[in-house]
Amino acid sequence: MIYQSALRQQIIKCCRRLDQLGFVAATDGNVSVKLDGSRILITPSMLSKGEIEKSQLLICSPDGKVLAGKGEPSSEIKMHLYVYRMRPDIKAIVHAHPPAATGFAAAGRALTDPVLPEVILTVGPVPLAKYATPSTDEVPKSIAPYIKKHNAILLANHGVLTLGKDVAEALHRMERVEHLARIMLTAGQLGGAKKMNKNQIKKLLDSFKII
Ligand SMILES: [Zn+2]
Repeated sequence: MIYQSALRQQIIKCCRRLDQLGFVAATDGNVSVKLDGSRILITPSMLSKGEIEKSQLLICSPDGKVLAGKGEPSSEIKMHLYVYRMRPDIKAIVHAHPPAATGFAAAGRALTDPVLPEVILTVGPVPLAKYATPSTDEVPKSIAPYIKKHNAILLANHGVLTLGKDVAEALHRMERVEHLARIMLTAGQLGGAKKMNKNQIKKLLDSFKII
């Protein structure tokens, strides 16, 4: 069992990384982890991810009520709670606005083509969820078609959502999605990325024993 203070530290480390990488502007983005039972630990709203401290994280109930800590939880808490309800295997969630991947989301372009082996192995296809007004019930509805089978989703005209068994995995998926988006932009300028074929993908999955 991981102690809560260690989980708080993991969230802060993730927030700092999102800030350093330029994946968030101003007070954008939010990070959460699932605690024991169905309580979650989540970043509060209106705080820069570059400055947030461990003590400012909030513990919330499955219906979004603040159980411990001061302030309001992230405005996207409905999206976080929905993901934890639908995916018992998921223990951490990262939401950010990395510029290249969010550019794809703004252009209405999913990142589902199989192009990079490491993305296929660690993230999978990244679909595009329909536009939803941020912080409303529209957001869980928009990701509903994808949430069971995907670990990263582009949110149209908004940003990116990544999931993981822990904070590090969710963060690494966010980094990989943004890296993929940048590579797809470069490949686009050079005539377009060549998709990996079925045989190449099968061989890749077989060699890493992923079925
Ligand atoms: Zn956002």
